[in-house]
Amino acid sequence: MSLSWLFLIAAFAATLFTAWTEPGMLPSELSETVSSAFDFSSTPEPQWPTPTPRARLLVGIVAGHSGNDSGAVCPPELDNLREVDVNLNVAERVRANLIGIGIDAELLTEFDDRLKDYRANALVSIHADSCDYVNPQATGFKVAPALSNLYPEQSQRLTNCLRARYGEVTKMLFHSGSITRDMTEYHAFGEISKLTPAVIIEVGFLNLDYKLLKDQPDLLANGVTQGIICFLKNEPVVPEN
Ligand SMILES: [Zn+2]
Repeated sequence: MSLSWLFLIAAFAATLFTAWTEPGMLPSELSETVSSAFDFSSTPEPQWPTPTPRARLLVGIVAGHSGNDSGAVCPPELDNLREVDVNLNVAERVRANLIGIGIDAELLTEFDDRLKDYRANALVSIHADSCDYVNPQATGFKVAPALSNLYPEQSQRLTNCLRARYGEVTKMLFHSGSITRDMTEYHAFGEISKLTPAVIIEVGFLNLDYKLLKDQPDLLANGVTQGIICFLKNEPVVPEN
């Protein structure tokens, strides 16, 4: 090896040493940085199935007025039928249906403490319309979405699914034109997490749909369940607004 080569190597080594002794570039730190960049031992082992915070789907069902008041009440000639009882009958059956097919579902009261920042794959609040006789058209069901959601199109799709499936199963007509502010500004929409798709459904009118609401809770619950499944399974529905 020539002297000039030796000189070059020595100069290079000296430069390296200088770099290492500069503040912030101590050899130990540098080697740590380098070794950690190539250290695979700290990478977590892949685990199958991948653990997730919640592996199963969760659906919240509010039994309208439960835990608070009776809601609309029918006159004695209509057996004093109470809205809260209709709602509860349907909500309990929807919950059982969903649990039966492996979906976690929980029943919530009207002003349930759990509604605050509630996180779920869907929230459906079940109500029924007034028992006052209004006119011959006061029959059928209504559905309104929570549009204050971060993804309002999700609530809208849940609405479309419920509207399509509930109509198909119960043969009831969609009562368009009377979606009230009570529905669109439903209190729970402002309490739940903005990530939870949510809707309120009025399953029928206590007056003209009396027999269906009183005697067919299984049918009504089946309609609501099919609507929820349609949403969760991303089934195609004709967009209706
Ligand atoms: Zn109600």
